[in-house]
Amino acid sequence: MADVIVVGAGHNGLTCAAYLARAGVRVVVVEARDTVGGCASTVDAIGARVNICNCDHTMVLASGIVEELGLAKHGLTYLDVDPVEVAIGWGDEPAFVQYRSVDRTVAGLPATIAAAYRRYVDATLPLARLVLAAAAAPPSLRSLLRLAAPRTAAQLLSWRRRSLLDVLGEFGLPTWIQSAFATTGPGVWGVSPAAPGTGMAAAGPVVRHLVGVGRPAGGSGALPDALAAVVSASGGSIRTASPVAELVVEGRAVRGVRLADGTQLAAPAVVCAVDPRTVLVDWLPPSLRRGTWPSRDGYESKVDAVVAAPPAFRALSTVDIVPHMATTVVSPPPAAMVAGPASAVSDPPMFLVNVPSVRDPAMRPPGGGHLLSLEVLWTPYGLTGGWAGSAEPRRWLTRLASLAEPGFLDGVGAWRAMTPVDYERDFGLTRGYAPSFSGGPLSALLGRRRELTRYRTAVGGLFLTGAGTFPGAGVWGASGRNTAHAVLTALGRATYPSGS
Ligand SMILES: Cc1cc2nc3c(=O)[nH]c(=O)nc-3n(C[C@H](O)[C@H](O)[C@H](O)COP(=O)(O)OP(=O)(O)OC[C@H]3O[C@@H](n4cnc5c(N)ncnc54)[C@H](O)[C@@H]3O)c2cc1C
Repeated sequence: MADVIVVGAGHNGLTCAAYLARAGVRVVVVEARDTVGGCASTVDAIGARVNICNCDHTMVLASGIVEELGLAKHGLTYLDVDPVEVAIGWGDEPAFVQYRSVDRTVAGLPATIAAAYRRYVDATLPLARLVLAAAAAPPSLRSLLRLAAPRTAAQLLSWRRRSLLDVLGEFGLPTWIQSAFATTGPGVWGVSPAAPGTGMAAAGPVVRHLVGVGRPAGGSGALPDALAAVVSASGGSIRTASPVAELVVEGRAVRGVRLADGTQLAAPAVVCAVDPRTVLVDWLPPSLRRGTWPSRDGYESKVDAVVAAPPAFRALSTVDIVPHMATTVVSPPPAAMVAGPASAVSDPPMFLVNVPSVRDPAMRPPGGGHLLSLEVLWTPYGLTGGWAGSAEPRRWLTRLASLAEPGFLDGVGAWRAMTPVDYERDFGLTRGYAPSFSGGPLSALLGRRRELTRYRTAVGGLFLTGAGTFPGAGVWGASGRNTAHAVLTALGRATYPSGS
């Protein structure tokens, strides 16, 4: 019998399992899909190797996981991405190029804006460092007191109530930079940057200066593949094509899981690395459910295409960069950046345009050309008329072409669209929603929604991990690492084994 069953082999479930296995815990990972990696995986599609997510990894580079688990020995190599982000608009606003180096970023800005940008970075650095430090261990009030200088704590309390646009506006950053930061912040969370409570997103771009951006050579999936190799090499086992249907519970304690085919797997502890709502509402008996867990609809889609050549954006024709070494964000003005009606695609849309085969030749399609990844927001789960046969995805390619020199569309070969209904069907994301912890660092440090911030539930032996728990979505792994810490503590074992 296993000591711990981990449900879900996304990168968080695998991270948790890898730390547990290396501590000598007998671990079985149970995954619904035929392959590991979840939203961080790279799959065979359209005659190429295609990333499910956009594949810009930032937070995981600061998590310690890559070094602690010795992932390089299992084939993981990160390629630096610098500039870390390029941003253009739908109109004639200037392009914004953000480099890892603040000095280099500022050198490309007009003098008045350069001064504003420096003020913003200087004021935000302590908060960005706090965000990274707070995520590196299970949060607690003691860690808040230890980590945050009084001034930074006061800034956190203020910014967490304000909107991102309000915070960025305070420094005098122009609208075109606000748009860029809003897209990769509240935009990808499905929230308007004008919404109170989004102010802490101002720390995100500064984290890119601190940590940089990387992409695993060969595709995002090299990260979960290396994590899976650590699990196996440490004596754990991974069972794919095994969807869990429910938890097995006796009294107030978990005893294992039941698979969709009726097979029962027993263990005194279960870590669920899937949407917390699924676990706490669908998999627990009603008598053990606690709190309210409203469901949300997914809002992001992605087109993957083999293209003869990447789109040559007119807005970048005079900018001195190698095109498509970084993701290009295409943003509407902030005022237009609100989720549209729940049944229509926002217009103009937000695009994250990535041609991974430019930075990484290993991603080039075997038949030639390049690989285009076009993430589109907001695209509702409940699109009027439904997604089957919808003309929307083709329209996004046409919209993209309108920003580029002529000829781009003629070079589009095999392509596919992943919409919220596809994420639901293929990745177990209910209503296409990719879970994201929305509580923020302060509520985590104070221990609100304890299942999501302390990883332990009221059911004995049942733990939660994954993007729905602190510190949240993104390829980060901090949640998986923190949960391993919580499980090892509960088992009375030493935490965070050293060495690789
Ligand atoms: C289109 C898109 C683009 C993105 N771009 C980026 C990006 O550029 N950078 C970034 O940092 N983040 C990005 N993200 C977010 C990031 O990919 C996710 O937050 C992260 O991968 C979540 O990891 P996870 O391990 O918590 O969950 P998941 O990856 O969702 O893993 C959960 C696993 O559980 C499995 N599962 C579900 N139900 C069951 C069941 N009943 N039984 C067994 N197994 C089950 C699933 O198959 C899956 O493998 C993007 C996400 C999307 C959707």
